[in-house]
Formats: sequence, structure tokens, C-alpha cells
Amino acid sequence: MTKHKISIVIPAYNEQSSLPVLLPRIVEVIPPSCDYEIIVVDDGSRDNTAEAVLTARHHNTRIHLISLSRNFGHQYALKAGLDMATGDCVITMDADLQHPPHLLPELIQGWQNGYDIVYTVRRENKQTPFLKRLSSRLYYRLFNFLTGLHLTSGSADFRLLDKRVVAEIKKLPERMLFLRGMISWMGFRQLAVPYTPADRYAGKSRYTWRKMFSLALTGATSFSLKPLRLAVYMGLTVAFLGCLLTAYVLYMRLFNGSVISGWASTLCVILILGGVQLLMMGIIGEYIGMIFMEAKRRPQYIISHTTLDRTDK
Ligand code: UDP
Ligand code: MG
Repeated sequence: MTKHKISIVIPAYNEQSSLPVLLPRIVEVIPPSCDYEIIVVDDGSRDNTAEAVLTARHHNTRIHLISLSRNFGHQYALKAGLDMATGDCVITMDADLQHPPHLLPELIQGWQNGYDIVYTVRRENKQTPFLKRLSSRLYYRLFNFLTGLHLTSGSADFRLLDKRVVAEIKKLPERMLFLRGMISWMGFRQLAVPYTPADRYAGKSRYTWRKMFSLALTGATSFSLKPLRLAVYMGLTVAFLGCLLTAYVLYMRLFNGSVISGWASTLCVILILGGVQLLMMGIIGEYIGMIFMEAKRRPQYIISHTTLDRTDK
């Protein structure tokens, strides 16, 4: 029987202290019956992440480094790793040890049992900041409502993908990435594995609120036209209410003779309408922005150097 090859892709942004702990733990748990490669994608780190990987590579040449030319973001670092991986399956995981390496054999087992995608679902954890838990839960609710997909709250980019799935991801032409959604959309046989996240090994989350918000917007707008529909419905509702109000005013004027005074109500209507209009313009703007980004057809990332030799790609 030929040995299965497993690729492990780890995006890393300023993770010089976690990697020396993480890499040996991964090597330890890979079943001896499998061949493997570990690809760390250095997403433009400003610390010695790249050096940490190269040091590990001294002892184990199956560890590889891809250095991106700047910070492109988690999703793009993941994509760079997926593009370069050659395994029969690819496991993506974070560098900060929040995705426990001891789960790898279970993921691999699921794959060997015939599942094409084995994804993990984070168990609610009191250590996760309350705001992050709340925003994550609300977001997945909203995302599923908007897109009709079924993303589980707490699904992260810790999963195993069969090489067929990776090939399909590479075929998707879009530039803006929301891998969670794309993979859920793809179908195939999927298996969920629950896990309890560990604490971040070192430093703070590299995902700032700004980065998270931007990912959330990309997700919602690249998977659904519903936000645009909402604008239509809201516009119709407001227009209808306006008609009712006009009818009422006319009635009062013609048959009651009373003059309707009140600048306050006028102001409220103006403010609310103004707000709704701005919001809707913002939503439309988001889509135009997406079209603009896609139309430019820029590469998703730029590799500055790598230890991988993939001249065949
Ligand atoms: N990461 C990255 N580029 C970024 C931000 C984060 O490659 O711009 C990596 C980071 O090093 C980690 C993973 O993505 O391996 C998840 O980031 P983090 O742990 O900070 O996010 P959280 O777990 O808080 O959602
Ligand atoms: Mg983390």
C-alpha cells in the first residue's frame, strides 16, 4: 500500500514563540503510516517567525516555509498554503496552539473513513472573551440567514480537506476569500469534530476587530444578494408608511381643518430616512467594491521566497 501524504498548512503572523512548541507536537502525533509535509506560511511577520521555521527545518526537512511579501491576511496565507500543498489531504490549523495538535489523528481517521472534509467545531469555552463569543454566534446566525448555508457557530479554519476539495477551491475564480463559506458551499461528504480550544500560547489575538469586521463583510456580501434585497424591502416599507402619512395629513387638512404642527416629528423622519439611505448606499457600495476588487484580478498574495520547490506548478 502506498503511504498517504498529509500536508499541514499553518498561517503565521508574528508567531516566533509558538512555532517552536507547535511544530514538534505536530510531528509527534502524525501516524507513522503516513508521509507528511508541514508548510508554515509567514504572513509578513515583523518578528522572527521565518527564522523559527528555518531553525526547525534544520532538524526536519519536511518542514517548509513560504514567506509572503507583506501581511496579506489569514485567509490569503491559508490560500497560499493550499495552493502549494501536494498532500493527499491538507490540514489547515492556526499557529497559536489554540487548535490542539492531538486532534490531528482523529481528523485523519475521519478522512480515511471516507469523508472529504473533516471540519472542527469549537466548543463554547468560558475563556473565550464574552464579546467574541457573542459576536461570533450572532454573525453565524446572520450569515446563515443571508446565504441559506449552514455554517456552524464556532467553526474555524481548522480542518482537513481531501485533495479533490483543494483542487476545487483552486478552481474558484474569486479573489476575495471567505474560505469557511466557500468550503461549506462546496458540499462533498463532511464530518464535524468538536474540540475545546486551548488558550493562545503567546501574545494576543492577531485578529483585530477591524480585520474581523472586514472578514465578516466579505463573507456576507460574497455569498448573498439578500442585503440588497433588504434595501428594496426597506425602501418599499418606508415609502408605504410615507403614503399612509400623506393620506392622513390630507384627511386632517381637508376634513378636520386643523393645522398639523410639529417640527420634531419631521426631524425624526428626516433623520431616520437619512440613516437608512446612507446604510443602503453603504451596502450597495460594498458590492461595487467587491466587483471592483474582483475586476482588477490581482493575485491573492505574493510569495517573496519559499523553501518549497514546486517548479511543476
Ligand atoms: N494570522 C495570519 N495573518 C493575519 C492574522 C492572523 O496569518 O493577518 C494567523 C495567526 O498567526 C494565527 C491564525 O492566523 O495562526 C489565527 O489568528 P489568531 O489566533 O490571532 O486569531 P483568533 O484565534 O484570535 O481568531
Ligand atoms: Mg488564535
